[in-house]
Amino acid sequence: MTAYWCESAWLDGAIHPGVLVETDGTRITTVQSGLSCPDSMETTALPDLVLPGFANAHSHAFHRALRGRTQYGAGDFWTWRDRMYGIAARLDPDSYGELAAAVYAEMALAGITCVGEFHYLHHRAGGHPYGDPNEIGHALIGAAARAGIRITLLDTCYLTGGIGVGLSGVQHRFGDSDAHAWAERVAALANGAATATPHARIGAAVHSLRAVPLSGVDTAVALAAELRAPLHVHLSEQPAENEAVLAAYGRTPTQALADRGALTPGTTAVHATHLTAADIALLGEGGTAICLCPTTERELADGIGPAPELAGAGAALALGSDSHAVIDMFEEARAVELDERLRSGQRGTFAPATLLRASTVDGHASLGWPDAGRIAVGQHADLVAVDTGSVRTAGVDPAQIVFAASAADVRHVVASGKLIVRDGRHLGIPDVAAALSTAIAAVWE
Ligand SMILES: [Zn+2]
Repeated sequence: MTAYWCESAWLDGAIHPGVLVETDGTRITTVQSGLSCPDSMETTALPDLVLPGFANAHSHAFHRALRGRTQYGAGDFWTWRDRMYGIAARLDPDSYGELAAAVYAEMALAGITCVGEFHYLHHRAGGHPYGDPNEIGHALIGAAARAGIRITLLDTCYLTGGIGVGLSGVQHRFGDSDAHAWAERVAALANGAATATPHARIGAAVHSLRAVPLSGVDTAVALAAELRAPLHVHLSEQPAENEAVLAAYGRTPTQALADRGALTPGTTAVHATHLTAADIALLGEGGTAICLCPTTERELADGIGPAPELAGAGAALALGSDSHAVIDMFEEARAVELDERLRSGQRGTFAPATLLRASTVDGHASLGWPDAGRIAVGQHADLVAVDTGSVRTAGVDPAQIVFAASAADVRHVVASGKLIVRDGRHLGIPDVAAALSTAIAAVWE
């Protein structure tokens, strides 16, 4: 048994003093509040304010190599994508494994205990499979293990370069020969990795309706149901995507997904930025989760999505750092409220507890971990101790910490019962900045 005593802790939306969390080594077995720190060798004291672990529900780990190298000059999402393709062309299983381990360690330092990796870089140049066609997927699962966090590998179907357009250039690395070949490869991954590695679960993803024909959506829906796995899809990130889908199918991307039975409580729509009122109603009726990626949507000039309307329609909100221009779940969470203020001219749409819920319990649920994201019995023991005495957080009402703290204020992190960050240092990768520098330099060479 391992136990953690929290000076104060966030328990389902309220802060309690003196919280003792006992574990069986992985999961929480008891939670008691109002206690002083026991004098016991088995108990680790966590100072200040302890939050549940964050879920980063949308990641493309290799995009971290673009931070600070593509953020100047003119252009839009499509010019950025050309730069991103340059990196995708150069990665191999070893270099991607090294980069991903460093990126996931950066996430651990930010209090992220589970990542949803939307993984579409599958094959060698030209689309030729590796000896094990899931070699890069295994490298990503191994990278999460090295960083000490859990992963849902959302293996992504990517078949076309546009509606009715073949793959070109580096896109061949993303594509399987058809949807059934993709589904067979993912099923092999799920039956191997998911059973062998308790920190990993396998999910399915449709890259977008630009990259997957409607028959492929049917295959993905069936596979997710068969595997009882989450299904993620990029949805209406760009107006050009909506225009292409409308022209080809005579309906919006949301309507097209709804018609294929793809909008269910197991589905997460990523971005959902450019929607009609009818789209919002369909997503709400389906109980579909929405993964907002506010810092990426800013960075790529995507726009601000209708978060209050989606929440009002019944969609759960999750959060992702996506392109990793920033890895800071406090920043993603408060951006939902702050960007909405810019959109609406109104303050106070999303309360701090709602924003923390999106970054913890609803994010984990979106990734297929309903057993994580709360400090409660039976949940994975994920604990994030936040410094309330830094220059950013001093004098702050702890209940409003989400509007003041940054990733740099995360001091200690416990993931699935294991201490992975102590005093702001990662215990498995001692110099995460150096690991990032080395891995990023290698892919730009
Ligand atoms: Zn994405």
